[in-house]
Amino acid sequence: MRDAEFFRRWMEAAAAAVEREADRLTELDSPIGDADHGANLLRGFTAVRAALAGADPAAVPGALLQLAGRTLISTVGGASGPLYGTLLRRTGKELGEASEVSDEELRGALDAGVDAVARLGGAAPGDKTMLDALVPGVAALGTSYRAAGDAAEGGALATVPMLARKGRASYLGERSVGHEDPGAASAALLLGALADTAE
Ligand code: ADP
Ligand code: MG
Ligand code: MG
Repeated sequence: MRDAEFFRRWMEAAAAAVEREADRLTELDSPIGDADHGANLLRGFTAVRAALAGADPAAVPGALLQLAGRTLISTVGGASGPLYGTLLRRTGKELGEASEVSDEELRGALDAGVDAVARLGGAAPGDKTMLDALVPGVAALGTSYRAAGDAAEGGALATVPMLARKGRASYLGERSVGHEDPGAASAALLLGALADTAE
């Protein structure tokens, strides 16, 4: 079973990964975006760190993820803020009031979270977005947390030859081909952080 401390550690690991990789995320967003993805997520996860540090020590997993999601929505100006915010809010909502959740429950909740991201953004796998890492990543949770992190990373790399159909990169049409999607790269960090936390 996974308790509130596990979810605090996951968000902390995600914030640390974003901090470490912020420059790379911004570089990926340079040829096919507006070169702010790393800065956007760094601002967002720095605020998540502060919000969780100030949260009720007795807050349950679902409440912590919803707080993290609300914080991303209110602090990240770019497309990725509402999308990641929705992922965490919806996942947290699915977890409900339980003080401990099973890996099976977390997997089901993340599935619902990813569905909510797809509905909000109107994107599907193959459109060269964060969903290209989130969908295979969350699907591989059935195998293991590490498999999920690896599948998300593979999904991010698989965006390189794709033509962007959603978000800023889609404005470039054919010129979006040949570059890794920054949001897919950050989604792989998020699921990699989950795998590191679960080990
Ligand atoms: P912005 O594009 O507003 O500057 P960011 O640079 O922070 O925002 O985030 C860009 C990332 O957001 C993209 O690389 C992509 O993965 C993701 N994204 C953009 N639009 C969508 C969408 N409609 N559905 C899913 N993901 C999207
Ligand atoms: Mg951007
Ligand atoms: Mg922007």
